[in-house]
Amino acid sequence: MSYKNYPMVSRVVFGRGSFNQLDEIISPKRLNVNAPFIFLVDDVFKGNSWLTSRIPLAYGDKVLYISANEEPKTSQVDALVEEIILTTKERPSGIIGIGGGTIMDLAKAVSIMLTNDGESKDYQGWDLVKNPAIYHVGIPTISGTGAEVSRTTVLTGPDKKLGINSDHTPFDQVILDPELTKDVPKAQWFYTGMDCYIHCIESLNGTFLNAFSQSYGEKAFQLCKELFLDNNLTAEEAQDKLMMASWHGGMSIAYSQVGVAHAMSYGLSYVLGTKHGIGNCIVFDHLEEFYPEGVKLFKQMKSKHNIELPQNLCADLSDEEFDTMIQVALNLEPLWENAIGKNWKKVITPEKLKELYQNM
Ligand code: NAD
Ligand code: ZN
Repeated sequence: MSYKNYPMVSRVVFGRGSFNQLDEIISPKRLNVNAPFIFLVDDVFKGNSWLTSRIPLAYGDKVLYISANEEPKTSQVDALVEEIILTTKERPSGIIGIGGGTIMDLAKAVSIMLTNDGESKDYQGWDLVKNPAIYHVGIPTISGTGAEVSRTTVLTGPDKKLGINSDHTPFDQVILDPELTKDVPKAQWFYTGMDCYIHCIESLNGTFLNAFSQSYGEKAFQLCKELFLDNNLTAEEAQDKLMMASWHGGMSIAYSQVGVAHAMSYGLSYVLGTKHGIGNCIVFDHLEEFYPEGVKLFKQMKSKHNIELPQNLCADLSDEEFDTMIQVALNLEPLWENAIGKNWKKVITPEKLKELYQNM
């Protein structure tokens, strides 16, 4: 047995208002005046001076506003890298992602592709990245995905939705400023928050579970119950705690895996473009047989916060679309092995998945 030796985020700041320290944090990392910092910022913040006036710009530094309406694509990463190469005198000093999982994943992927040849689709998989990425910083503005702490960046490519999982993927620096999440709309808060909750359930009920994953998973699970069920926290406390729940949930899956909801939601996303947070909720709602207790609590959380999930998403799918969806889900073998065990193929057949998808 050989154990994995994982890198982690090397530096992290936590605190309300810590975003104000961005300049002092990144300045020492400037390579020279021709090597700018590139800020990838969720375009929801365009024109929002409360946030953007605090982005420190000097020399040729640039802000690129990016929509999070669609999840990151390999073609989008390649286009951004091309644009950066063409418009900067030298390789940038760093990439700073300010936004949710979508923007943070783009920042990670762009920082990798600036030092590695070819196209980003060539690196979807496990440990395919050869050269270290350039300095990259993650600044979450919505909590739950764990993308701020993870070793992957999830991309939709021409033939699969799969992460670039590598030792070069994790951020060199993360700034956790819970205040940045104060204006997240309620439904989105729930969907992205449930990503964290589902990470806990899938990790804690997986066959890969070990004391490392369990310790983080239990903490995140406890925080999620406090946040989404007990509901007696101030807004500030809730923002602080959800940011730490996301971190712990992400750490929990680092040394294990996610499970059925994630595998099936990748299928939904690939065929229908359903986004990660809401897609996980739609799937998880139908997974009593795999996660009875977890789904029961989820339904309580959903009703407590008056969340209505879309129904009959798969009602009009063609047979080909079902096949693609099922194939994308089945390809995520480590997720199924974690969820069901080594003999998962006996239980999880294409027919079984079709039956489940037909209810969604
Ligand atoms: P997101 O980044 O897609 O953002 C969701 C919505 O919230 C967007 O409309 C965005 O504009 C808005 N938003 C973000 N911050 C806001 C703020 N402070 N105020 C108002 N609106 C705000 O959402 P997400 O759920 O964080 O990320 C989903 C993505 O993360 C998916 O692409 C998924 O694949 C990826 N993901 C990655 C990992 C990983 O480990 N790398 C893990 C889980 C999910
Ligand atoms: Zn997730």
